[in-house]
Amino acid sequence: MTTKYYALSTYLRQRFGERVQKIPLDGGMNCPNRDGTLSRHGCIFCNPSGSGTGQAAEGRTLAEQWDGWRDRFRRRYKARRFLAYLQSFSNSYGPVHRFAGLLDQLRALPDVSGICIGTRPDCLEPAKLDLLGDLDLPEVWLDIGLQSSNDETLARINRGHDAATFAATVRAAAARGLKICAHLIAGLPGETEPDFLETVRFVNELPVHGVKFHNLYVCHNTPLAEWFEAGRYVPPSRDDYCRWLAQGLADLRQDIVIHRLNGDPAPGELIAPNWAGAKQTVRQAIHETLEASAVWQGCRWAPAPAPWFTTDAPLPPSLDLPGQEVTHV
Ligand code: SF4
Repeated sequence: MTTKYYALSTYLRQRFGERVQKIPLDGGMNCPNRDGTLSRHGCIFCNPSGSGTGQAAEGRTLAEQWDGWRDRFRRRYKARRFLAYLQSFSNSYGPVHRFAGLLDQLRALPDVSGICIGTRPDCLEPAKLDLLGDLDLPEVWLDIGLQSSNDETLARINRGHDAATFAATVRAAAARGLKICAHLIAGLPGETEPDFLETVRFVNELPVHGVKFHNLYVCHNTPLAEWFEAGRYVPPSRDDYCRWLAQGLADLRQDIVIHRLNGDPAPGELIAPNWAGAKQTVRQAIHETLEASAVWQGCRWAPAPAPWFTTDAPLPPSLDLPGQEVTHV
């Protein structure tokens, strides 16, 4: 068990007293950055599947996907609690009534202890945040893409929103008792280590409860693939990524839960860099970098790792929210 950072698995054990397994679901959603509302090209790194599993396109309902994964995780890990994770595309995009129907489906899944909704900051109108705030589930997370706090970078990668939109949405969601996981990318075109660290500091100043770090890699069928093939984009080396990430963790608030340390390309989609395809090896290299550089999350501000980095410690106050009590099974 690591004590260098506040891992999601540690947080969930503190909340529930046992393993909690995330189940990836594909709701067959779309994105305003792909359907022509903002653009038809998407973010430069996004492939046409929107990082999805493709199960919705194969006709599998959310309940069928859930049952398949739940059975597998029950057998493999003896898991009894599960979080429904809608990952692909922008899952709160569209009319409010459709989003309400989606939440009803998720709420009805057997053994669901919480939900995580992946989306964009400009797809979370107040009425949708109100629906999420009214859910009677112990864990309601919004996974919101920021990627960079630099508006020039956001324009360069065709995000279709700015950093101020992200900040306003995070504040509105946190005011309703929702937990926010910010998605950040290291190695974006035109960015260097100081730009990435500036994004980490931007997130530190917001009521964010989690962060998902991602190394940028080049996938087939993306605008970034054309940039890469034309020599306009060079991905960072693994050593560079590990160093950037260690410095980012050193700056990060200690009460922010780390949902992920690196990206995980789907089979067959990766063009470059090769190292990005070896998820466990990258994780190992990150841990070795943290060890070798004597870095822990928040070490620029705090003299030691926080007590809650270990499973037996109580939650930090910012994550011990009222009205989200857990019934132990
Ligand atoms: S917001 Fe997400 S789904 Fe939409 S284009 Fe960008 S990465 Fe793809």
